[in-house]
Amino acid sequence: MREQIEALAALQRVDQSLRDNTQALQAGESRVAALAEAVQVHQTAVVAAEQELGELQARQRDLEARLSATEAKMKDRRMRITRIRNDKELGLAKREVELLKEESGVIETELVAVLDQVDDSTKRLEAVQAELASLTGARDTEAEQLRDTIGRLGAQIERDRSRRNQLIEGVDGELRRRYEMIFSRRGGVAVVPVRGGTCQGCHMHVPPQLYNQIQRNEQVILCPNCQRMLYWQPEGEEASE
Ligand SMILES: [Zn+2]
Repeated sequence: MREQIEALAALQRVDQSLRDNTQALQAGESRVAALAEAVQVHQTAVVAAEQELGELQARQRDLEARLSATEAKMKDRRMRITRIRNDKELGLAKREVELLKEESGVIETELVAVLDQVDDSTKRLEAVQAELASLTGARDTEAEQLRDTIGRLGAQIERDRSRRNQLIEGVDGELRRRYEMIFSRRGGVAVVPVRGGTCQGCHMHVPPQLYNQIQRNEQVILCPNCQRMLYWQPEGEEASE
């Protein structure tokens, strides 16, 4: 039985390593995915900001064209006024110039507002571009390191799996099932030593009669408190654990 419980303890060390490495691997993969996602979100934001700026600039060009057309027309009408001799016609021409002046005033006001918006939009685009650049840099640097880590963990997991398969062969099937059940229910600790009369899984004192049974190593004894498998470890042997 001592050999069986020792094989289980060895199996547990491999299983704990497998569990830790698998969790670390998953964390690494999630981080890589999160970095890629952040970059993608910012790429979309850059596209949206570019589109917004493009629309505003088109509006700006349109207003500028309308303003210069209106101003050209106004200049033309003013020059004509100097040649008009008829009072009625002069009145109409002056009225037209007034209207053109009003129109160009309206366009100018709108243009000033659009120029402000172009300014703000340009700043937003530059900010989101800068953020994208820094995120892309972080992703490239971090993802490279993570790829190394993930590769290393993957190799370790492979080694652990083949070691586990070897160890399993030395363990009785029924005992293994019990071990696996306890391992999954008790936070990855199924086999624990008893030291100084205390279960090292839950730190409760083991009754003396049970302690004697454990020392005989004839059968697998479960801790009455935490239900883990107990084995006896003489004082001073902790270093080998
Ligand atoms: Zn216990």
